[in-house]
Amino acid sequence: MGLTALSLGSNSGDRGENIRQAVKFLEEAFGKVNKSTVYETTPFYESRKGQENFYNCCVNFRTENTPEEILEKIQAIENKMGRERPYPNAPRIIDIDIIFIGDEMIAQENLTVPHPAMQERLFVLVPLVEIMGSFEHPAIGLSVDDLFYECPDDGILVEIENFWET
Ligand code: ADP
Ligand code: MG
Repeated sequence: MGLTALSLGSNSGDRGENIRQAVKFLEEAFGKVNKSTVYETTPFYESRKGQENFYNCCVNFRTENTPEEILEKIQAIENKMGRERPYPNAPRIIDIDIIFIGDEMIAQENLTVPHPAMQERLFVLVPLVEIMGSFEHPAIGLSVDDLFYECPDDGILVEIENFWET
């Protein structure tokens, strides 16, 4: 049973509260999770220009759940929190993406693992380095640390200090 890693993001409503609530629901679903620092980040996509900055973090945990069960549970949490999808890249109360499920490589219509864009996104790599820097990407064959060093993204991340202590 390998490590499952998720990326969380919120850029609508009370972003900090949304991240806290999502982690609470994740722990109810999967048990205790390891949490990264939370960062405020500028929206990645051109189509998001003008949107609120994101709060982003990553978590990881071990689970006996199948990939389909993991996807179902995170989507149930997104839905319970009121996630709407009016158009692609719309502001979101909460987005939970699966980055890794151990060494699994999945290419299904509704699920691609490892997440196909994780290596292009500092808002995923920076928090991931904190909690699993030596983990090797099963398809690319580089560690998370090395993916971070090679990432061309120049997005800005600002640490939210003491987020989990307050
Ligand atoms: P996005 O995260 O791309 O902005 P959504 O959160 O609305 O958009 O997800 C759209 C679909 O992506 C989901 O219905 C889900 O089935 C699919 N999907 C494919 N791979 C993954 C993954 N690794 N993690 C989460 N969702 C995924
Ligand atoms: Mg998503």
